[in-house]
Amino acid sequence: MAVGQSGSNLDGCESFYKSSWETSYWRDIAAETDPLYCQLLNCMFGGQRLKRTYLASNNRAIMALKVLCDGRHNHAPWSMTDGVFDTALEAEYAP
Ligand SMILES: [Zn+2]
Repeated sequence: MAVGQSGSNLDGCESFYKSSWETSYWRDIAAETDPLYCQLLNCMFGGQRLKRTYLASNNRAIMALKVLCDGRHNHAPWSMTDGVFDTALEAEYAP
């Protein structure tokens, strides 16, 4: 989980696990910032694999990223090559 926060403003937070929002660490931040949450699937932003990302921010613009898979494409399989998981290939966001 990566958090950008200044006072009661929450720039944004990303997590690959929905359960991150249930930690005491996050609950303290959420109590101060009253964030909005959205889930997106990276395959709709140029990713090759079905990878969920959960975002939180108190900037309404984040809701424009709430895009789920439309099922109109194939997903590359998750695998490991030479000891490296494919997650490393899906670590960047499309421009
Ligand atoms: Zn997809």
